[in-house]
Amino acid sequence: MTTESAFETARAQLRTAVDQLGLSENDWQTLSTPRRILEVAVPLRRDNDKVEMYKGYRVQYSTTRGPSKGGVRFHPQIDLEETIALAMLMTWKCALTNLPFGGAKGGIAVDASTLSVRENERLTRRYTSEILPIIGPERDIPAPDVGTDERNMAWMMDTYSVNAGFSVPGVVTGKPIVLGGSLGRNSATGDGVAISTREALRMRGINPVGATVAIQGFGKVGYWAAVALENMGLKVVAVSDVNGAVIGFENVSQLWSHFLAHKNLNAPGTDRLSNLELLHLDVDVLIPAALSDSITGLSAVGIKAKIVVEGANAPTSPEGDAILNDKGILVVPDILANSGGVIVSYFEWVQDKQNYAWDGDEVRTNLNRILMKAFNEVEEMATSRKVTWREAAHMLGVARVAEAHKLRGLYP
Ligand code: NAD
Repeated sequence: MTTESAFETARAQLRTAVDQLGLSENDWQTLSTPRRILEVAVPLRRDNDKVEMYKGYRVQYSTTRGPSKGGVRFHPQIDLEETIALAMLMTWKCALTNLPFGGAKGGIAVDASTLSVRENERLTRRYTSEILPIIGPERDIPAPDVGTDERNMAWMMDTYSVNAGFSVPGVVTGKPIVLGGSLGRNSATGDGVAISTREALRMRGINPVGATVAIQGFGKVGYWAAVALENMGLKVVAVSDVNGAVIGFENVSQLWSHFLAHKNLNAPGTDRLSNLELLHLDVDVLIPAALSDSITGLSAVGIKAKIVVEGANAPTSPEGDAILNDKGILVVPDILANSGGVIVSYFEWVQDKQNYAWDGDEVRTNLNRILMKAFNEVEEMATSRKVTWREAAHMLGVARVAEAHKLRGLYP
């Protein structure tokens, strides 16, 4: 059994969609090629005066349907291929949810946990300065991803604005509210994961109240998904982070309070599990919300959940996917399940353009409306074309980008 990279997985998924849609080889050429790739060296002066060099990337996979949009990841293992794959997924996600964006991704190959706050600020500002010529509210709009948060977005917005000579809040999303961030953006991806879970349970005829969930990853996506799911009446039985998993906590807020105080998940009364044991728990719903490639040909075999809702980007390899499908497990794919983040990022960008802040209800109502529309379209496509939900979601996203290419034509 081989383990596919996120890049190979993304290309294989695109190839399948192109074939299922009956698109031409010309379409494949256009759709499978990233439009702009920037690799930069990011120097950092450490607090002890030592200078270190880091690799940074920004990939604008597509700008056909609007400015490109996608997160900035700080993680030691990122490389160009993975960044291209994630930028490709953003392209189909924005098209699937009908947002007027293309797709992008970027980041620095660094372990953010080794940086002091001042080092993190210097690195973020220098990275922003290096990619500055290609970003902007009408060009490419970064957002937080693994290892970055609203603090990094504030520094990015400030660095861009200082260079422009005036405040440009619309250059990034996921900012603090006082700088033009949107209500509901912090929790948006997790909220969307919870809405997708609720709808998938409905489809399978399972009552959400009392349904059990295991969540891999307890960061921005995993934590907020856990909160929203608990509010819907589900029981979050296990969560994990990079150090392993726990089971037996009273509720998510007890676990979170412990995590904030002690920086670990070992709250009183909990038992430890390995990350693999968490994936294999006998629960109704499994939510991978950490990194790529956690559900592989090896780990998928023992999965017992009835539904997998992909909070993370590209958490399932093609081999893992085939095994889940053979087992009859419903997989709500990443580009649908975690699209709540980019949907509310879109609201933030709109609010910044209009200098007009929405209230929380407006954000929630519109998130639910856009996500439910995409959800229903995927359900309908999967049923009418007899394909998996992942295939249906990719077909919808890829078809919209292909149509936009055709209508715009080829210049010159
Ligand atoms: P984060 O940095 O806030 O959290 C990541 C979590 O995963 C942490 O709890 C970390 O300890 C855990 N983790 C890392 N390696 C792990 C491992 N091997 N096993 C188990 N847990 C592990 O990142 P995030 O923003 O929550 O993003 C998580 C995933 O969701 C990523 O794939 C990201 O691309 C995707 N995503 C994020 C957003 C967003 O708005 N933040 C939107 C869409 C998709």
